[in-house]
Amino acid sequence: MAKQNGFLYVVATPIGNLDDISQRAITTLQQVDWIAAEDTRHTGRLLSHLGISAKTIALHDHNEKQRAASIIQKCLAGEHVALVSDAGTPLISDPGYSLVRQCRDAGVRVIPVPGPCALITALCAAGLPTDKFHFIGFLLPKSQQRQNQLAEVPAGVGTIICYDTARRIKDSLQDVAAVFGDARELVLAKELTKTFEHLEYGTATQISAWLEADPQRCQGEMVLMIAPTPKAESDISEAELSTLKLLLTELPLKKAAALTAQIHGGKKNALYKVALQLTGETE
Ligand code: SAM
Repeated sequence: MAKQNGFLYVVATPIGNLDDISQRAITTLQQVDWIAAEDTRHTGRLLSHLGISAKTIALHDHNEKQRAASIIQKCLAGEHVALVSDAGTPLISDPGYSLVRQCRDAGVRVIPVPGPCALITALCAAGLPTDKFHFIGFLLPKSQQRQNQLAEVPAGVGTIICYDTARRIKDSLQDVAAVFGDARELVLAKELTKTFEHLEYGTATQISAWLEADPQRCQGEMVLMIAPTPKAESDISEAELSTLKLLLTELPLKKAAALTAQIHGGKKNALYKVALQLTGETE
């Protein structure tokens, strides 16, 4: 009888609180022949906490393409392999895409073992709309790149979710305000599931002030969420919006709205409402 292929299990692990690992994840990690880990030392600590002594293989951004071939060989030889990352769900801003794709192409079954994921954990506690959301991964390191990355997000995609680092968050908030206006509602979710878990709500300026009030607040892991485009903004065209934003940097609100309407032949009232939202001014 032909030997059965082994499977690739994509196993989510905790993003902080070790109690968040599922029973199914533990059983899978106990039963597989190999565990492919982003950082074998980091995963070694989780495994020893769980009392599991499994053979680990390093699979990270720099060796994934080549390592995938040897993992697939193992599966084709009937061995079962689990893929884990340092935290959360593999492939989500983490290695694994190439391996999963190659497994698919080679006819190796891929079995997801779901669990923690920072973006979903953040979103479900943010109090921002969840019917539609758009994850853009890590915000880019340089300000201009970051502004372009944010400006490319189309209107109407719902809540925007980004990963960011403690080192860059204050600059990122400035870029968010430059692209979406400083009136846009944001939520910064920090250290989720850990001792210093905190969700801070407000505009870019308000959250920056909160961060600046205590240097410890600028530490740790964080997810930044941006509320969806307000209704008034989705009523005007992308071209009107960018002209309006530009004119608002030089002119009073009423004048900027009137000139934008003149330039594009748009409705002054709708533009005026958007200008109020962008600047946070009231009528
Ligand atoms: N695969 C992971 C997942 O499922 O969320 C994400 C890995 S990515 C390399 C790491 C980033 O996720 C961090 O820089 C941070 O933006 C976010 N993150 C991970 N753990 C977090 C936590 N406990 N609290 C807040 N953000 C977290």
